[in-house]
Amino acid sequence: MSIARQLLEIKNKLPATVTLVAVSKTKAPALILEAHAVGQRHFGENYVQELVDKQAQLPADIHWHFIGHLQSNKIKYIAPFVYLIHGVDSLKLLQEINKQAAKNGRVIDCLLQVYIAQEETKFGLSFEEAEAILQSPSPASLEHIRIRGFMGMASNTANTAQVEKEFLSLKTFRDRLLPDHPLLEILSYGMSGDYPIAIACGSTLVRIGSTIFGTRSYPQ
Ligand SMILES: *Cc1c(COP(=O)(O)O)cnc(C)c1O
Repeated sequence: MSIARQLLEIKNKLPATVTLVAVSKTKAPALILEAHAVGQRHFGENYVQELVDKQAQLPADIHWHFIGHLQSNKIKYIAPFVYLIHGVDSLKLLQEINKQAAKNGRVIDCLLQVYIAQEETKFGLSFEEAEAILQSPSPASLEHIRIRGFMGMASNTANTAQVEKEFLSLKTFRDRLLPDHPLLEILSYGMSGDYPIAIACGSTLVRIGSTIFGTRSYPQ
């Protein structure tokens, strides 16, 4: 099926309140343009160099999401344009994003990545660590970043009850913090394999790659 058809099929299943980020890592700019031509504006990338290369040659109205694991020495390359950084997992990284955003005269929106899966390999903070960052005085003093919510990845399992439980744990966590932290509006969870469950569990942003662009030719 064409990229345009796949996008339409997914859009038809998404409530209007859910943002679709088309994950284009490893995919050629021409394919991103195909999606852009039918109105897709949010794209997600995992690698800094690839993102920088693509941003330079693709339309300026694209909102670029960085969804990979970000190293602090590379923030400077994406700080001039990045729309939302999903995978923040330390206060140190927030401080460095703040510094680079200030240099560019910007305020950069960030999500804290929280570890919700049972698997050992996923990056992210525990709920306790995420809350400690939010409650510490430091983030409020960082005027060039805003923590807008949380990103999570569920276990890669056919056990839908497990996946549901993991997504809901993040939603419950956010809901408890929201009264004191009204900016925490974004819940970034749901990928090709589990986005319908994610939406049912309160996701406000899904990150979908292979269902739109086809399977990737080299691993993430
Ligand atoms: C690659 C990737 C996705 C997209 O995965 P698909 O299964 O291809 O939809 C979403 N989120 C993150 C963090 C990724 O690295």
